[in-house]
Amino acid sequence: MLSLKLPANERLQFLAGQYLDILLKDQKPRSFSLANAPHDDEFLELHIRNITGGAFTHHVFEVMKERDILRFKGPLGTFFLREDSDKPIIFVASGTGFAPIKAIIEHALYIGVKRPMHFYWGARKLADLYMLDKARHWEASGIKFTPVLSDALPEDAWQGRTGFVHQAVLDDYSDLSPYEVYTCGAPVVVEAAHRDFTAQRGLPNEAFFSDAFTFAPKN
Ligand SMILES: Cc1cc2nc3c(=O)[nH]c(=O)nc-3n(C[C@H](O)[C@H](O)[C@H](O)COP(=O)(O)OP(=O)(O)OC[C@H]3O[C@@H](n4cnc5c(N)ncnc54)[C@H](O)[C@@H]3O)c2cc1C
Repeated sequence: MLSLKLPANERLQFLAGQYLDILLKDQKPRSFSLANAPHDDEFLELHIRNITGGAFTHHVFEVMKERDILRFKGPLGTFFLREDSDKPIIFVASGTGFAPIKAIIEHALYIGVKRPMHFYWGARKLADLYMLDKARHWEASGIKFTPVLSDALPEDAWQGRTGFVHQAVLDDYSDLSPYEVYTCGAPVVVEAAHRDFTAQRGLPNEAFFSDAFTFAPKN
């Protein structure tokens, strides 16, 4: 997790779920979702996965120091809660796709959204569900939570759901036509969710919202 502080007296106006483009010298920008909700904006919170061979994420994990300065553009994107709808919501995150969904759920709780919400969080192994306690904590506020691991390690001693996260949704819901679905993270998960939820479960195309965490284009 990376916390950014804006210069004194500056505030970023954003919608929960939007992202920033981090600007790097002589390189294409790198996109990262804001993981905090707008009501809680003393710091901007980013959840960064360390990518093998990734220029920027390597810099964050290995080189960056406290109080270093980053430049960014934003807020960007259309992955935010449609507040004029009263449909029940299914959230599907893979890995650090948790970040914008955390922002949206914290925002929804803050403004008192009463729509039923079910949050699925998929990852390979237990350690990849890096804020499991927070997600479990939301259950007390009525948000159903289903963690799903695809490659749990023996030492994880995982007793929960296994397989692909979008498959868990397909297994649990035979009809998605009355729902809205918000999906975020690995492009393969976002694509599979969109394809199968619309083709096999009757989810209207316009009720599917997503951000696919694609790599920055090569320079
Ligand atoms: C809207 C949006 C929001 C995002 N939010 C987050 C977030 O909250 N958290 C998060 O962890 N990530 C997020 N991402 C993903 C993140 O922006 C990328 O992973 C980014 O490229 C990482 O930068 P890097 O410099 O570390 O890696 P890069 O230098 O960009 O690339 C990493 C590695 O991938 C390889 N690579 C590059 N392009 C491709 C390709 N097309 N196919 C296969 N391999 C390739 C490179 O050779 C390199 O080895 C988001 C992406 C988008 C589009």
